[in-house]
Amino acid sequence: MVDRGKIEEAVRLLLEGIGEDADREGLRDTPERVSRMYEEIFGGMETSAKEHLSKTFTAENNEMIVEKDILFHSTCEHHIMPFYGKVHIAYIPDGKVVGISKLARTVEVFARRLQIQEKMTAQIADSIMENLNPRGVMVMVQAEHMCMTMRGIKKPGSRTVTVVARGEFETNSELKNLFFNMVNS
Ligand code: ZN
Repeated sequence: MVDRGKIEEAVRLLLEGIGEDADREGLRDTPERVSRMYEEIFGGMETSAKEHLSKTFTAENNEMIVEKDILFHSTCEHHIMPFYGKVHIAYIPDGKVVGISKLARTVEVFARRLQIQEKMTAQIADSIMENLNPRGVMVMVQAEHMCMTMRGIKKPGSRTVTVVARGEFETNSELKNLFFNMVNS
C-alpha cells in the first residue's frame, strides 16, 4: 500500500532541500497533492497482469496479432521522472487470445511503477508468455525520457527504443521483420 503520510513528509523535505519555503501559499498543499498523484501513478504495484490476461478466448486461427501505438506513461526509477511513449505488441496465439483492451491494461500494470524501460519491455512480454502460452511474443517500446530531455543530454523528441522477443520471434528473423514492418506502416 502507498503510505501517503510518508510521501507528504518526504515532499516537504524535498521542497526545503531545494531552498523553498514549504509553507508559502503555492506550496502549502503540494505534499498532499503529490501523494495523491503518486497513489495513482504508482498504482500498478498493487495490480498484476494476470487480472487482465486470465480471461482468454479460443483463437479462430493462430495468425499473428499486432496491437500497436498503445500510449503509456511511466516513471524512471533512477530519477523519479516521467518517461512516456508507445508500446507495440505482437503475439502468435497457440489457441488462446485476449480482448485487445487487455493488452493496454497489461501495459498499464507495468507502467504505473518505478521502472526502467528495458525491464518494462521484458515484463510485458513475459506476462503475455506466462498467461497466454503463445507461440511467440514481441514487444517494442519507444519512449522519451524527461530525465534526459529536460537536462539537455538529449534533444526533446529523441526516443529510446527497446525490443524484446520471446518464443518463435527469438529465432525467426522473418517474423521479426514482419513485426517491424507492421509497426512502421
Ligand atoms: Zn532517468
